[in-house]
Amino acid sequence: MDILLIHPPVVKPSEPPAGPARLAGALREHGRSFMVVDANIEGLLYLLNGRADASDTWTRRAFLHVQDSLASLTSGRAFSNMDRYTQAVNGLNRILSFTSGKSGAHVSLNNYTQEAYSPVRSQDLVRAALEHENNVFYPYFGRRLLGILDKDEPSVVGFSLNYLSQAVTAFAMIGFLRKLHPGMKIVLGGGLVTSWINGQGWSNPFSGLVDELVAGKGEERIVSLAGARWSGVEPVPDYSPFLPYAYLSPRKVAPFSTSSGCYWAKCSFCPEKAEGTPYSPLPAGRALKDFGQLSALASPGLVHVCDNALSPALLKSMADREQATPWYGFARVTRSLADPDFCARLKRSGCVMLKLGIESGDQGVLDELGKGIRVEESINALRALHASGIAVYAYLLFGTPAEDYAAAGKTLEFTAEHSGFIGFLNLSVFNLPRGSSEAAALETYDFSEGDLSLYQGFVHPRGWERNLVRQFLDKEFRRHPAVARILRADPPFFTSNHAPFFVMNRLEYS
Ligand code: SF4
Repeated sequence: MDILLIHPPVVKPSEPPAGPARLAGALREHGRSFMVVDANIEGLLYLLNGRADASDTWTRRAFLHVQDSLASLTSGRAFSNMDRYTQAVNGLNRILSFTSGKSGAHVSLNNYTQEAYSPVRSQDLVRAALEHENNVFYPYFGRRLLGILDKDEPSVVGFSLNYLSQAVTAFAMIGFLRKLHPGMKIVLGGGLVTSWINGQGWSNPFSGLVDELVAGKGEERIVSLAGARWSGVEPVPDYSPFLPYAYLSPRKVAPFSTSSGCYWAKCSFCPEKAEGTPYSPLPAGRALKDFGQLSALASPGLVHVCDNALSPALLKSMADREQATPWYGFARVTRSLADPDFCARLKRSGCVMLKLGIESGDQGVLDELGKGIRVEESINALRALHASGIAVYAYLLFGTPAEDYAAAGKTLEFTAEHSGFIGFLNLSVFNLPRGSSEAAALETYDFSEGDLSLYQGFVHPRGWERNLVRQFLDKEFRRHPAVARILRADPPFFTSNHAPFFVMNRLEYS
């Protein structure tokens, strides 16, 4: 075998990973032999099916019902009722927490932490590699990797690392492979690795452990590592390696990207802008063709469009196509989304939900952030989308340098007043991207001792510090009855990945 691709735990186990599916598409297109292991879903199921040796009633009950809880998520039963859903995910999470706690880690359905190993400190990641037996997933991945290496002897092993929650276990797996086969070529890529490399003052702390770190799209590099010449044609993702996995969703989900970077790239708080990722879209015609091909090949029940923001051109092309597979994705508020006819066409094209970066209800804040939207446009878009039956997952951002208490209050007023048009809410506290143009104008400090941290602390120019922002969110924002009602609708752990299923359930998609 030329290449073994590994998707390390932990990320939400609701769908196949987008990056390895793209790499698999590229390798297949170029006729190379490869294998993909989704160690995330495999590892989580290993913990969930572990020994039920708990003494407390809650955990014993969770173990007793583990198969029911899994089945209620995969069959869709859990999505008929939020109480039933919460009971299922809390039960699974209880088992993960109990089992991982025995090794000093904390694993949940969307995170991995272990006090002794910080994912933002390179020394800790190197130590996680050396001390791989301490990783809670070691009994699983040790056996699994050994079996593959004995049988298939890959010449290159590639890891796809997108989230901090994957870093400690990715390095533990790398350490295990290094010990077993010191000469094996190990390559690390993915979104998190790209952010490291594109960050300020990057110097590789992992030499000797990882042979190569790849920034950006990895298709061309993986094809050449597999010994083939890159054709230059973007391949369609290949989901066939993921078909055997029972992801925790009631329909098969296919994540799909039509671009990297962002067509807008002007929001001052955005890591995409800080890292200077160039915008590279597929032409709208090709994106639609791939979308159609994907639906035919992988027959997903839902397509998750993973672009940072769907471009207006792509949205228009989507709206013009005939209804096919249901889909959802991230979009900027634009004038066309305020057009009821356009939204109705978008709905007919299968759009179930749009994730919208509303950010603030204060025009001054939006202007300073470079969002390029007017508050009235957000209101009109919320109205039109709601009227068309497309759910909105609204993203709000608090504590930006441009905000103060009064401006945050306007966001609360905005949200409460238009709560009837908002299906789901994501509330974030602003993190200052290291190396952003904003950082240069602020008094900054390191709030993490990690050399790999992508963010910096800063003295808020209006005194609206993080602790005050958090207090406001906890004591005022979340407690407003209209906001609390929306927040109660948010699926715990899986959030926007499972929200479309609640919407589809309500609208009885067939
Ligand atoms: S629209 Fe989204 S991805 Fe694009 S720059 Fe703004 S925040 Fe970043």
